[in-house]
Amino acid sequence: MSEECTHDCSTCAANCSSRESGKQPRESFLEPGNPHSNVKKVIAVVSGKGGVGKSMVTGLLASAMRKKGPSVAIMDADITGPSIPKSFGVHERAMGVEEGIVPGLSRTGIEIMSMNLLLDDPTDPVVWRGPIIGGVVQQFWKEVYWGDVDYMFVDMPPGTGDVPLTVFQSLPVSGIVIVTSPQELVGQIVEKAVKMAELMDIPVLGIVENMSYFVCPDCGKKHFIYGQSRLEDLAEAHGIKAASRLPIDPALTKAADAGDIEAVETNMLDGILAAIENA
Ligand code: ADP
Repeated sequence: MSEECTHDCSTCAANCSSRESGKQPRESFLEPGNPHSNVKKVIAVVSGKGGVGKSMVTGLLASAMRKKGPSVAIMDADITGPSIPKSFGVHERAMGVEEGIVPGLSRTGIEIMSMNLLLDDPTDPVVWRGPIIGGVVQQFWKEVYWGDVDYMFVDMPPGTGDVPLTVFQSLPVSGIVIVTSPQELVGQIVEKAVKMAELMDIPVLGIVENMSYFVCPDCGKKHFIYGQSRLEDLAEAHGIKAASRLPIDPALTKAADAGDIEAVETNMLDGILAAIENA
């Protein structure tokens, strides 16, 4: 990159490699964070479409990381379908102080900010257009008093549209974890998410195939209901080092519904956690 680079191709006169490649340097869009906060690593958890378990995996990763000791936060950027507060049993409305909006706090001390903590009634729908929703996510970054955070997990809006693009461009995302279902792996939805990350120059740290199989409670046998997937092939093709499978497990749904996701003990995401620690 040229020394004169202003990190904004629309105003910069320098003829650098970024301009030639057509890739705008990400720094040019980054929003400054809350001045009273210091977030060391931002990890975005993404999916090609809704309902594949992105929030479940975000919750499990954040809980497992917190149990290892670091300070952890979750930004629920799934503004129109927020489910993080419920799965952590956090319901108190967020309050403002001089430094910004104070996030909710889970039982094990995970900070949580979500649209649901700002609504009068959490069942009210958020009927807003993309740019407004993108603006709310930016406000979560700028106006929430996160304090010192080692790992912030961002539960992203599903897909590769307007809002995920705004989030990738405005937040200093260190890496992405992709959550998918076996059915998505059959199609090309996951590849779209991988390619979006590549376009944004953000490393994909891991891929989780959720609801991959079912363990028979009687005989303990694993049943791959949707057939054996090509998870490893996809990970290898895109140089993604960590790939994990999570079963369909009624205990997970039960814990999330009861607001007790932090009580879940699993080592199935350890490979993904290690990749996040090394990012
Ligand atoms: P997304 O964030 O992708 O929209 P969620 O994480 O909200 O999806 O999951 C959708 C539903 O599926 C939730 O009710 C959740 O509890 C349930 N669920 C997710 N993953 C699993 C799993 N591995 N086993 C059982 N239920 C799951």
